[in-house]
Amino acid sequence: MTERVVIAGAGHAAGQLIASLKQQKFAGQIVLVGDEPFLPYQRPPLSKKFLAGDLPAERLYVKPATFYDDPQIEVRLETTIAAIDRNANRLTTGGGDDIPYDKLVLALGSRVRRLAVEGADLAGLHYLRSIADVEKIRAELSAAKRAVIVGAGYIGLEVAAVARQQGLDVTVVEMADRVMSRVVSAEISDFYQIEHAAHGVKLRLSTGTAAFRGTGRVATVETIDGEQIPADVVVVGVGVVPNTELAEAAGLAVDDGILVDDRCQSSDADIYSVGDCTRHPNSIYQRHLRLESVHNALEQAKTAAANICGQEKQYSQVPWFWSDQYDLKLQIAGLSDGYDDVVIRGNPAERSFACLYLKDGRLIATDAVNAPREFVQSKALIAAQAKIDRDRLADTGLELKELATPAG
Ligand SMILES: Cc1cc2nc3c(=O)[nH]c(=O)nc-3n(C[C@H](O)[C@H](O)[C@H](O)COP(=O)(O)OP(=O)(O)OC[C@H]3O[C@@H](n4cnc5c(N)ncnc54)[C@H](O)[C@@H]3O)c2cc1C
Repeated sequence: MTERVVIAGAGHAAGQLIASLKQQKFAGQIVLVGDEPFLPYQRPPLSKKFLAGDLPAERLYVKPATFYDDPQIEVRLETTIAAIDRNANRLTTGGGDDIPYDKLVLALGSRVRRLAVEGADLAGLHYLRSIADVEKIRAELSAAKRAVIVGAGYIGLEVAAVARQQGLDVTVVEMADRVMSRVVSAEISDFYQIEHAAHGVKLRLSTGTAAFRGTGRVATVETIDGEQIPADVVVVGVGVVPNTELAEAAGLAVDDGILVDDRCQSSDADIYSVGDCTRHPNSIYQRHLRLESVHNALEQAKTAAANICGQEKQYSQVPWFWSDQYDLKLQIAGLSDGYDDVVIRGNPAERSFACLYLKDGRLIATDAVNAPREFVQSKALIAAQAKIDRDRLADTGLELKELATPAG
């Protein structure tokens, strides 16, 4: 019987893991160890409502503080894990404490990718990953007139939308030739570029940042094309890197993510891993995935908890994501890479439509803009891997779920 589960990292997945262990009636000790000064919290609002000041910090937490006030749970915040000793089944903290485990769950998340250009260490330049980051950014946005956002991914564009709504002059600098190029198709990028331009955001595509200039504090962003963009504040959102170093140093299998099976077990039977830091198999797409999403963090946490408690639970689901920019909710079901056909359903001009991506006659992904019904029904169709009646996909008079062909 497992008596002591130690959770390394106190983020979103960790919060769910404790809740799931309790639901499974786990009777042993749970030790939560995290380096941030906060109990597990949700990050999505950080670049949306929390940044805008429309959501109080208390609403970010996965569970209220009283939930952890439980003799079964020990919480150690502001504690960095420095090493894993797999022979002795114990962790060592940065402060030199040893923490023994029967089962260890690595829920270490990911960290922001940092720019390595001249001036990247100037004051006024920020990255956004934590509550502490947002508190600094919020204070600076309220005193600034001009913001430059580096990176036009979800987070960069969400920050751009908030800053614009607060009346700042906003410029977004993006290396790719279109926004959100890593996650959506050209059709969706075009739509969002038009929206941001209509809201007054200046987009600089196909160019990177050559340097940040200023004396002590950033004053100008210099692009690779030589443009000098004045900036009172800069927010950089150029992707994340999974926190795998601890696992790698301990000799666990790692390949751009801690490798786990569909039970969330690593290459060591006593060590599970969940959330952003993992790479896991997906039976729908027949490949290994590393995902940066709340859905993945929550579902992997539930899976690991069930298996630790002796139940057989496998994780394989349609990945999904979302992004809120202005009054637009983008919901993405599935992964579109490799599609051979795309159908637009609805009218982009009405600001409610979906792009459906097919491969070999099957729906593999949908990007839905203000179209929650299309999103929900797409998830089911993708999971079923059913053949789709392609010619009727654009007909909004028909429900998507009716378009799976009987042959399957
Ligand atoms: C601004 C922002 C907006 C987002 N928006 C969305 C969205 O709209 N939709 C969506 O699905 N996803 C979104 N995400 C992604 C989502 O938040 C992550 O996928 C999710 O937080 C992953 O949970 P996790 O528990 O794996 O990692 P995390 O929540 O990152 O938690 C990992 C924790 O481990 C800690 N840690 C790392 N190393 C150590 C160590 N050595 N010792 C101790 N502690 C350690 C970290 O500090 C962190 O607290 C967003 C992320 C950000 C930053």
